[in-house]
Amino acid sequence: MRPDIPTLLHDIFGFPAFRGVQEQVVGRVMARLPTLAIMPTGAGKSLCYQLPSAALDGCCVVVSPLIALMHDQLRAANAVGLRAASLTSVDADWRETQDRLRNGDLDLLYVAPERASQEGFRSLLRSAKVALFAIDEAHCVSEWGHDFRPDYRLLRPLLDEFPDVPRLALTATADAHTRKDILVQLGIPDDGLIISGFDRPNIRYAVHPRDGLSSQLADLVATHPGPGIVYAQTRAATEKMAETLGRGGRPVRAYHAGLDPAVRARNQAAFIASEDMVMVATVAFGMGIDKPDVRFVAHAGLPKSIEGYYQESGRAGRDGEPAVAHLFWGAEDFARARQRIMELDPSRQQGERTRIAALGALVETATCRRAILLRHFGESPPATCGNCDNCLSPPASVDATETARKYLSA
Ligand code: ADP
Ligand code: MG
Repeated sequence: MRPDIPTLLHDIFGFPAFRGVQEQVVGRVMARLPTLAIMPTGAGKSLCYQLPSAALDGCCVVVSPLIALMHDQLRAANAVGLRAASLTSVDADWRETQDRLRNGDLDLLYVAPERASQEGFRSLLRSAKVALFAIDEAHCVSEWGHDFRPDYRLLRPLLDEFPDVPRLALTATADAHTRKDILVQLGIPDDGLIISGFDRPNIRYAVHPRDGLSSQLADLVATHPGPGIVYAQTRAATEKMAETLGRGGRPVRAYHAGLDPAVRARNQAAFIASEDMVMVATVAFGMGIDKPDVRFVAHAGLPKSIEGYYQESGRAGRDGEPAVAHLFWGAEDFARARQRIMELDPSRQQGERTRIAALGALVETATCRRAILLRHFGESPPATCGNCDNCLSPPASVDATETARKYLSA
């Protein structure tokens, strides 16, 4: 007989207990019920399919949008003794992986969404025993989400071809509209929705108007010990800022998708191993990187959306210890965003405007930042959190120039 779930949780992952809704989600998967789990970054979504993959008879097919992300997960899964492999354009051992799949020798198979439409892949799955489809970053299936990937639309026909295989969709970020859309797009009934709380109480949120960004960041780096991430807007800014900040004496590195892959890998590894390094990066950095002791995240400019902000700032304090998220913004950010919107296809303009307006509300509010974030995700938080800049030192009065600006532009 197979060991029971709590035993596997302990023996494979070394965890004494489930966290939050994990137990509920794993329970549904084991009962073969279709599920959409909305769990914040760092909540432990991977475990929700990795654990069942060890308990179920057959292989769990995991759909994931990024090859780098997949390979990180693969390494981690293999490290705890799960039998995991991937079929991607950069894998050389396809034949071996296919054989392992057919022989029931795999717990987890990671693939990109575009694989779903390929007949070769489908017939491979038909010749194997599939125990579960896990769709990670499931918001990518929705045009309402902040990261729509058309390839995710190819998944539905594949899922429907295997009606007896349960499906588990997972994402950190989905407002009510996007949630509904994910359910519809992936054919999951409304009662399959599991939402865990979004609050990250150990993260202190602070928002600052930009006013001499270089010295603001230098101050921050000088006063915040522990590993930190500074998100810059462009690749060029990343390298320039890393160089400037590096003069302050702390180890500072840069990371963006345009860097030589070897340099990128080296910088990432150095950051993961370090206890005081600052990484200046584009938002390409962070997805799938599991460093629990990041003490601060700073945005050097306006994020793309509340979802993006929540996800990026959420990379701080995964260990539950106090951490800070700083956001530096200027009116130019909004001007640039408006400019970008004008260049978009008209069908996408309204959605983008809504996204930018939500960011405006977050940065301009004199009330609790956390409450704004949590309400965005459909929660009903208390009016004050006691751990954001506005709650810790309430602004004396509403900024008169701001009010005037709103009045004039009304
Ligand atoms: P997500 O995909 O939701 O952002 P991950 O699956 O990457 O999160 O997990 C985040 C971190 O939480 C990992 O370090 C993981 O090992 C840890 N973790 C997951 N489940 C538990 C648990 N039940 N107890 C303790 N740590 C956990
Ligand atoms: Mg994840």
